[in-house]
Amino acid sequence: MSEYIPKKDREFVAKRANYCCEYCQMPQRFSLFAFHVDHITSLKHGGKTELSNLAFACGFCNGNKGTDLGTFLLNELAIIRFFNPRVDNWNLHFEIVDAVIYGKPQIGEATIKIFQFNEIERVLERKLLAGGGYI
Ligand SMILES: [Zn+2]
Repeated sequence: MSEYIPKKDREFVAKRANYCCEYCQMPQRFSLFAFHVDHITSLKHGGKTELSNLAFACGFCNGNKGTDLGTFLLNELAIIRFFNPRVDNWNLHFEIVDAVIYGKPQIGEATIKIFQFNEIERVLERKLLAGGGYI
């Protein structure tokens, strides 16, 4: 579901994120495609189009997330919510080791599972950028 987001709000969201995906941390300047403004809590689930519910996201993260809010992890009976860049600290939920992003229980794990941070192409892209000193 989409909703019009004013250009000034899109620009604010991008600048607030330092023009990097707030989920996987990929800088937009290395992407061939424009990044998206994501509704953290999707409109489908009652989220509003307001700055406190918007995140700057690459196409991979936004597309994999869709309107989802969380997922089940192995051996868990409750749904674990995804990382929320407006309230969560990225470094408390993830770490990058040799271009692979590891999730710290359980929000990080749930986010990585659905957003697919570690698809081989995405890991290779991070390795190339890190090797060149770009990230
Ligand atoms: Zn991303």
